[in-house]
Amino acid sequence: MHELPVTQSVLSIAVDAAQQNGGGRVLAINLVIGEMTSIIDDSVQFYFDILSKDTLAEGATLNFRREAATATCLDCQQQTPVKPPLVPVCPGCGSSRLVVAGGKEFYVESIEVDDENHSGS
Ligand SMILES: [Zn+2]
Repeated sequence: MHELPVTQSVLSIAVDAAQQNGGGRVLAINLVIGEMTSIIDDSVQFYFDILSKDTLAEGATLNFRREAATATCLDCQQQTPVKPPLVPVCPGCGSSRLVVAGGKEFYVESIEVDDENHSGS
């Protein structure tokens, strides 16, 4: 259930950005989530819909981009993008000496704010 604090921070980043852009509504939030995190898109969206009520970010669209992890083979140096469930051996040489890195990202890549501020006119 760690999507809740994560979603709270995403919301606060989005609302801050909206206020800095003249108080327009947040239209969309583009998020990057590593494949190795256990964060579930639907859970983030679920919490976001609840938390964003009566804020500048209410009704914003969440876009998720999944970032793959990279497995590097210690024997042949081949690098392979991986995601769970992880491959146990190198697809190049069959070695099991793999080091997995990355895929743990979670951040707000960009926020789209309606800077026209023409609502209600
Ligand atoms: Zn290999």
